[in-house]
Amino acid sequence: MNQPWTTDQAWQLLLTGNKNFVSGDLSHEHQDAAKRQELVAEQTPFAALFGCSDSRLAAEMIFDVGLGDLFVVRNAGQVIAETILGSLEFAVEVLKVPLIVILGHDQCGAITAGVAAQKGSVKFEGEFIHNLVNRITPTIEQGLSVGETTIEEFTRRHIKETVSELVQRSEIIRDAVKAGRLGIVGAEYKLGIGEVRLVESLGIKA
Ligand SMILES: [Zn+2]
Repeated sequence: MNQPWTTDQAWQLLLTGNKNFVSGDLSHEHQDAAKRQELVAEQTPFAALFGCSDSRLAAEMIFDVGLGDLFVVRNAGQVIAETILGSLEFAVEVLKVPLIVILGHDQCGAITAGVAAQKGSVKFEGEFIHNLVNRITPTIEQGLSVGETTIEEFTRRHIKETVSELVQRSEIIRDAVKAGRLGIVGAEYKLGIGEVRLVESLGIKA
């Protein structure tokens, strides 16, 4: 499988698509029957995206891309787990994506829940919600210890920590970044204006 895009080109494609989305001047490329047929035999997405599940963070829409363009993994609060690492390793090792985007956003319910849980002011009934929120509270505690207080600061910290956890835990991903085959971007999406803003980058000129 040949990957036609470099890391920097892949990030530029996403930035351009997001500009289209912000302005409302959408291309709607790769969303038709011809593209669907073309992709039956093989996919070569130009980036992998790991983002929050929030319904307002629809990956292909906010980057104005279509079928076959993005390999998307999402969960509430974009919390790293073994299955997430496995999916992202698949994107790098098998699909040879040149870019992974970690995408958080403002007003994230999972971050807000992490703050509430850290204060002890919320209780969830769901057994597995605890697992997820408990993965966010250490980030909140680290932020508090250096004087951070706002959801925005915690959100940005969590995006940076997700990037570093990904690189620390996955040897394949770490090696691909070192070898110059892969870039990682941590970014924040602004719900109100639809804009994706860079928070952190590795192995990329962004
Ligand atoms: Zn969220």
